[in-house]
This record gives sequence, structure tokens and C-alpha cells, in this order.
Amino acid sequence: MLLLVTLAIFVPLGTLGHGPWTGHKVIKVTPNTEQEVKHLQNLLFEERHLDVWRAPSSVNNSVDIRLSPFEYDDVTNYLLEKDMFVKIMIEDVQQIIDEQKAYRNIKVPKANQFEYSKYHQLDDIYDWMQNITNVYKDKASMFNITKSYEGRELVGIKISTQPQNADRPAFWIEGGIHPEEWISPATVVFMAGQMLDLYKLDMELTEMVDSFDWYILPVTNPDGYAYTFVDDSTRLWRKTRSKHGACRGVDANRNWDWDWCKSGASKDPCSNIYCGPNAFSEVEIKGVADYMSKIENLKGFINFHSYTQQWLSPWASTNTLPVDFKIQDEGSTVAVKALEQVYGTKFAHGEIANRASVASGLGVDWVYGKLGAKFAYDVQLRDDGKYGFLLPDDQIIPSGKETLEALKALAKYVRNN
Ligand SMILES: [Zn+2]
Repeated sequence: MLLLVTLAIFVPLGTLGHGPWTGHKVIKVTPNTEQEVKHLQNLLFEERHLDVWRAPSSVNNSVDIRLSPFEYDDVTNYLLEKDMFVKIMIEDVQQIIDEQKAYRNIKVPKANQFEYSKYHQLDDIYDWMQNITNVYKDKASMFNITKSYEGRELVGIKISTQPQNADRPAFWIEGGIHPEEWISPATVVFMAGQMLDLYKLDMELTEMVDSFDWYILPVTNPDGYAYTFVDDSTRLWRKTRSKHGACRGVDANRNWDWDWCKSGASKDPCSNIYCGPNAFSEVEIKGVADYMSKIENLKGFINFHSYTQQWLSPWASTNTLPVDFKIQDEGSTVAVKALEQVYGTKFAHGEIANRASVASGLGVDWVYGKLGAKFAYDVQLRDDGKYGFLLPDDQIIPSGKETLEALKALAKYVRNN
């Protein structure tokens, strides 16, 4: 007992402020001219392997980069030489990770209780899925996609309140394809919980639930997500965990068979945007794609990410707008308006390539281009660039509530179009 008490006192004090991210900063640079956008692109596409949190897109859109103390001088000197202004977004990454590291130790008992206001490890999310589909077995069930590279289950929840009908439209929502974006699974889990807990209590939500067969995949990249809970050094992991020579992992949102690896992706296995040795090389992504292909009448798809607060539609791989852009972007407009009404949070919207940056091999392009699901979106959740991937847990419920309102409005729009 004494030993436990001693550990509880000394471990946090002993580790505070001294970790793999001590002295790492996230800087924010906002280009004011096309030339400055070019300078940033040159900086980031050299062989530097910098950890880019927000990639260069266009004038007035910030670029966020995490820098080690060693990288910091080099990069800021480069930017100062170009007369570009550097703002500090996060002074010390370790400090924020320290504030959130308690999540690695929380183990929720297997009772029918789940704290939606906390971040959860993969096993806890899976226990929750088991519990909630048991409680609501008349309308919810688990579906199994495949096993991950490291042998974990890749599972989701299907919510279906109406009798089986081949014409019935389906809607797929997923989170956690990029593991360091913890708010994504947390928001998806919250929304799925509300869809079951508030069914028949909230009429608008009930209408939404009744209108589609819902396929909800909270963690698309389970190996990567589990890895972000191992220790401080793994918290910001972005890829899968497959082995490629000396480096590990593929950017699972660059691995889809649509204009694969043409732009905004890298063939370097050590890059954070490595597209993989070939399209669908990642067993998880191949599994999801195969599973989705068998769903008849798939109408809606949302891949939840963070951050930057944007509701985005295809294409990602080209600036040329798709034929359905108007109707897709109108759906985004409807969604972000409903979202803003809850807490005043502002989301931008538009085509991915134009608003964010050109990138190929994305799920959203494949789902729209290959499966023909017209209402396919990539949604970048909170925040707009204060904490970035390290969003504090007190924003989970607000993110869940506002995003659910957006989803309700979008579902209605999709139903009518
Ligand atoms: Zn992402």
C-alpha cells in the first residue's frame, strides 16, 4: 500500500515536463502571398520529415508545424530569411501531453457506463460497442470488417430501425483513420450513443435514424489508435503500423485506389504521408473498402478528422470541381449552419483540393468516384488551431453535440435530394 501511495505521488512529479516532446513547439505561419505559399511548400517537401499539422494550401490559410528544438532554429531562420512571420501555437507540446496522459491508465469497468466526456483507449471503446449493442439489440448490432495488421478486430456498429429493404439508403460514418486525432473517435462514439439513447425522445434525431441504415466505424485504424496510448513518444502517431523497411506505417487516408499517390502523398516509407507500396496495401483500408462495396444504395459517407473546422467534399485529388459539387457543397452549407447554431462554432466548407490541399488516395474520393455515393465528406473537427491534435477533453461533448446537429441537418438534406 505504501508503495502505491509513493508511486502515485512521485511518478507525476518526476516526469512532469521531461519527456520526448519537451521543448517541442508548434508554430503557425500564415502566408500572405502566393510566393509565401511556395516558400512553405519548398520548406515542407524537402527531405526534412517535418511533422506538419496543417499543410500549406493557399494565401491566408495558416500552416502549422511541430518542431523539435533542433529543427526550430533551422526552420524559423528559413522563414525569417523570407520575411515571414512565425507565431507560436503551442509553446511546449510535452506540457499538453502531460495534461492528457492520464488517459493511458484509465480502464473503464465493463459495466454499462461510459464517460462520453473522456478520451478512451481502444479496448474501452470496443467494450462500449459491445454494451450498447446489447442494450439496444432491437436496433443495433456489431459488424466485423477484418483483422488489423497487428491482429486487432476492426469492428463497427450498425443501427437499423426499419425492416430490411434493398432500396433503403445507407450512411457510413467513420473516425480514427488518423490516430492522433483523438477528438474524431470521441465525437463519433458520442453521436452513435445519442442516436440510440435519444431514439424516440428527440423527434428530429429519430427521423434521421429511421431514414438510413447507419454504419458507424469509430476507429478505422485500430493499431495506430492503440499505439497513441502506449507512451508519450507515441501520442502523435499518424499512420498504420505495417512495416516498410526501416520505417513503419502508411497514411491510411492516402492508401485508397483513387488517383493513388499522384500528389499530396509520398513514396517515402518514413514520411507521414506515405501512400504505401500500392493502393489498398493496408489490410484495414482494403477491408473497409470491400465491406462498403457490398452495401447497396450507399448515399452518405463522412470521414471525421481533426482539426481546422472544415466540412469538405470531393475532389481531393484535383482542383477541378466534380459534376455534383453544387449539390454536395449545399449539403455542407446546411450542415455547418446547423452546427454553428449550437455554440457559434464556425466551420468553413468547400472542395478539399481548393480549401485544404490537393492530395490523392483519399477515402472520400474513392467512395464518391468508385461507389458513386454522392454525399461523401471529409470533416475536420475542432479546433481552428489552438490545441490542434491535442484538444482538451472538455471539448468532447460540445464537439459531439454540434456535430450531431450538423449530421441531423445533412441527413435531412440527403433524404430530400
Ligand atoms: Zn486526419
